[in-house]
This record gives sequence, C-alpha cells and structure tokens, in this order.
Amino acid sequence: MGINASEERILEQLRLGREAMPDWAEALDLQIALLEAQMEVEIPAVEVRLNAEEATQRRRQGIPLVSGRELRMDWDSFAALFRRVCQISAAHRADLADDLVALEKIPADDPEQLQSWIFSFMAEGKPSQDDELGLERFALTHTLRPFLRRYAQAYASLVDESGWRRGYCPICGGEPDLASLSALDEGARHLLCSRCDNEWLYKRLGCPFCERADHGEIRYYPEEEGPHRLYVCDECKRYLKTIDLREGPPRSRVLLPVERVLTMGMDVAARDAGYG
Ligand SMILES: [Zn+2]
Ligand SMILES: [Zn+2]
Repeated sequence: MGINASEERILEQLRLGREAMPDWAEALDLQIALLEAQMEVEIPAVEVRLNAEEATQRRRQGIPLVSGRELRMDWDSFAALFRRVCQISAAHRADLADDLVALEKIPADDPEQLQSWIFSFMAEGKPSQDDELGLERFALTHTLRPFLRRYAQAYASLVDESGWRRGYCPICGGEPDLASLSALDEGARHLLCSRCDNEWLYKRLGCPFCERADHGEIRYYPEEEGPHRLYVCDECKRYLKTIDLREGPPRSRVLLPVERVLTMGMDVAARDAGYG
C-alpha cells in the first residue's frame, strides 16, 4: 500500500491528522509542505532495466534492484526539488535555517558533491561522514522520495517478497522506518522503506537493523490504548515504530506513509531514551 497509496490520499490524511494533533501542528505543517513540493515535480515514467532472471539473481545475492548509479533522473528537476526542500525546511525550522540555507547552495555550487551524496546515501544510508545534524540525509530523503516511489512502482512486479526477508528494501536498499503487523497471516510483519515507500515481508521477530538480535535484546513498549508499539534493540540501539493492524483500524484505511509521520511522537520518545 505504501507505493500504491496516491500522494493525494497521503496529503489528505496528513491534513486530517494535523487537525487532530494540534500539539504537533508545526512539525506536521513542514511535512505537508514537503509533500506538496514533491507533488509539483513532473517525473517521467521509469524504464525497467532488469529482466526477471537478473532480478532473481540479485535477490539471491541480496542486492537491491536499483542502486544510486542506476538511477536515471532529470538532474535539473532533482536539484530544483533539493533547493525547494531546503527552503521549506529553513522556513519551518528557524533554529536550523543557517545550515539549511548553506545546504540549499550545494546543487549550484557543487553539483558533483550532490551526486556523490546520493551515491553514498543509496549505498550506505549516509550521504557523508560529517552530516552531524542529519540535514543532508533529511534533505536527500525528501528529495529522492518522489523519484524513488516511481522506481518502486515500476519495479514492484520484479520483487518476490517471500524470497527476500532482509532488513533493507529489495528495491532501493533503504532502511525501514515503520513496520506493520498484518491482521491476516498470523500477524506477519511488513517493513516500510524510509526512502521509496515500498513494503516488504520480514521475519515476525528480530531486529532488521542488526539482523542479529533475537528477542532477548528486543523490547517493546505498547501504547496504553491503540495499535502502536515501539520496538527497541539493545544490541544495535536502533528502534522501530510498529502498527499492529490486528488492533487498529481496517487495513484499507491505514496508509503507512501517513502513519510514519503521525507517529513522530514515538521518534522523539525513542531518541530521548537513547535509540536512533
Ligand atoms: Zn526502498
Ligand atoms: Zn538491532
């Protein structure tokens, strides 16, 4: 549903969420403005460059279907959206405005720097070693998302999710930033890609980030009421927000890209507790 949910529906539900969560209005306004900017970019259809056999090969080797160097994007559109993302974020975050204004200049001043950030971000999840505030990563995530969503839609038919079960996205290699437990299939767990909104099947237990921890190292905190849980891993100190669809509203009404945003209180709680 992540990549199939239209951006219009995501936007509509975010706006409703904003009405229902006045304490988070500022942060939600930023997310809404970023999505509106993403929706204004015209992105041409993505050409699939792998056949079924090549896709199977990659699945067996644990290699995602699209790497940074395989992305074919209109770099002018990408650079324009990158600048827009920085401007919007600066307008909503006065505390970070100076850094964001500096970041906005990168596409014009140093386009090769921007490309190398993309390649590092796609391969390693980090644009560079000195991204202390995480702003480069934030700006790239929000700039790449509409492009990667198109890739995810185009490549979805090449994914055999029962043959993957890895902690990173079979399409773009991104980390998950939300999980859902299915109301069907005995609570099967799906992960939502933080970059392309693809959802893939993962083990019911265990940490997708270190892939080592078993339940000894994993703890979870349920909400007092409601379907959300926060899983934390004491092996790698990462956390994973989870929505239990056996307890929540019907699956057809839940859009995980919306849940990712509306659960931002759990991100704050997890970080305050020392998880990242
Ligand atoms: Zn992905
Ligand atoms: Zn872990």
